[in-house]
Amino acid sequence: MITIKNLHKKFKKLHALNDVSASFSRGQVVSLIGPNGSGKTTLIKSILGIVKPDAGSILFAGKSIDKQVAYRDNIGYMPQIGRYPDNMKIGQVIEMVKNIRNHKDGTLDDELFFDFKMDEMQDKNMRSLSGGTRQKVSAVLAFLFNPDVLILDEPTAGLDPLASEILKDKIIKEKKKGKLILITSHVLSDLDELTTDVMYLQDGKLHLYQTVENIKQQTGETRLEKAI
Ligand code: ADP
Repeated sequence: MITIKNLHKKFKKLHALNDVSASFSRGQVVSLIGPNGSGKTTLIKSILGIVKPDAGSILFAGKSIDKQVAYRDNIGYMPQIGRYPDNMKIGQVIEMVKNIRNHKDGTLDDELFFDFKMDEMQDKNMRSLSGGTRQKVSAVLAFLFNPDVLILDEPTAGLDPLASEILKDKIIKEKKKGKLILITSHVLSDLDELTTDVMYLQDGKLHLYQTVENIKQQTGETRLEKAI
């Protein structure tokens, strides 16, 4: 569904992405891991079209993203820190996003909205929200338009254990429906049950891109956090 070829991105002398190539297909949950500054966010933002690579190409459904605008409507993005107007209520933010975003087939996916009990919190002001509730709003928005691709940047950071479980269950369900899900996280133990593939970046280079099954087999470990 997404193919990236020989991506390079430099910020002055710093090589944030150094010849990164990979393909992602439906039904994959890819965990993008690596130390701080290894290029994870730059890679995600390149796929989202927010960062323009210096060289290389990104194809979405076989066509270069430079030649299509609407592909973004098919990607749900949960940023590390969602920024929303302070003076709006949760319900208003969700309505606003519904009104301004095009979506492919009109189906809304409001399962997380109810699972997170957002219907009881609609009147809360964004300014008064805890980090965790803000994360829930970001998650609801990422899944809202039933996209084929989900890009989740540190999705469980700041979520309480129950909310983390709800989100993980949702990710597993979406994977089974054939969605492609890319996740960055520091907490490998959080990813173990979800992940099909691990992509490890270091200094902008792709050091490893393998199925979890292979990694576990090769290392003889049964838990991902021990195997990496
Ligand atoms: P990660 O998400 O793995 O922590 P990033 O992709 O955010 O890594 O960053 C990779 C490198 O590129 C880091 O050294 C970071 O400081 C640098 N970088 C990222 N964005 C910018 C930018 N807009 N301007 C300058 N340097 C940047």
